[in-house]
Amino acid sequence: MNGKEKGSSVKTVPVKVGPWTIGGEKFTIIAGPCSIESYEHFLETAQAVKQRGAAMLRGGLFKLRTHPDSFQGLEAEGLDLAKRVLQEVQLPFFSEVTDPRQIGDLMDVVDVFQVGSRNMYNYSLLKELGQVSKPVLLKRSFSGTIKEWLLAAEYIAKAGNSQIILCERGIRTFETATRNTFDINAIAFIKQNSPFPILADPSHGTGKRSLVTPVALAATAAGADGLLLEVHPQPDQALSDGYQTLNFDEFENLVEKTKKLLPLLGRQLQEPL
Ligand code: PEP
Ligand code: MN
Repeated sequence: MNGKEKGSSVKTVPVKVGPWTIGGEKFTIIAGPCSIESYEHFLETAQAVKQRGAAMLRGGLFKLRTHPDSFQGLEAEGLDLAKRVLQEVQLPFFSEVTDPRQIGDLMDVVDVFQVGSRNMYNYSLLKELGQVSKPVLLKRSFSGTIKEWLLAAEYIAKAGNSQIILCERGIRTFETATRNTFDINAIAFIKQNSPFPILADPSHGTGKRSLVTPVALAATAAGADGLLLEVHPQPDQALSDGYQTLNFDEFENLVEKTKKLLPLLGRQLQEPL
């Protein structure tokens, strides 16, 4: 951004992920559980979201939880089962890296390294990710300004990796009715001022299951290049973030509505293989 805000749109430079790109004409839906809970759970969720239109998968193995007694993810023990599910389902996979020491193990499993909201300011992690050969999804800190977020992206780019995708996931405001306030301005602003593709995460952005679909549609209309969504076979039983997670029917409904909206925006859904 270099401090200069441009009035007209900057062209988005698409980032290649698996057989496709994010940020081109096609719109990408990335869905899956907040945390991977078991082989069976991840397989069932992955197959269900693929069947309903997700072209890519998400699933946390290393979780950064506010409460130290909350489920911390399967961590390194989940790497093998995730690999087996991916072989079965054949979709590109996003998962969070919380510490540079995980990069080696995750390299064999993920297609995109996710940097979570809590780590947007972790410049040593960002510099390490600047040296990997895979794309990085940089989530906005819940207390980060857009300028700080774009400067965080520069850390990755400056260290050598310009395959960066941004993700708006809501910020903390004075509002307490929702977990976070989804910043719709950020979607339009990034489209106009940054070459990096931008995804919307209305799951964390709202923290409320019933608000996920309307905010997803608003973000799509504002120009997002895709959605990152939490989906679980039984959201109320989820080991993390169940209250903001969609079940399979709700996910299907969201995809159907998104498919109707996209042609008005001159776009189409990237269908899974
Ligand atoms: C997540 O995607 O599960 C997650 C932890 O998100 P965030 O870093 O945005 O809180
Ligand atoms: Mn989550």
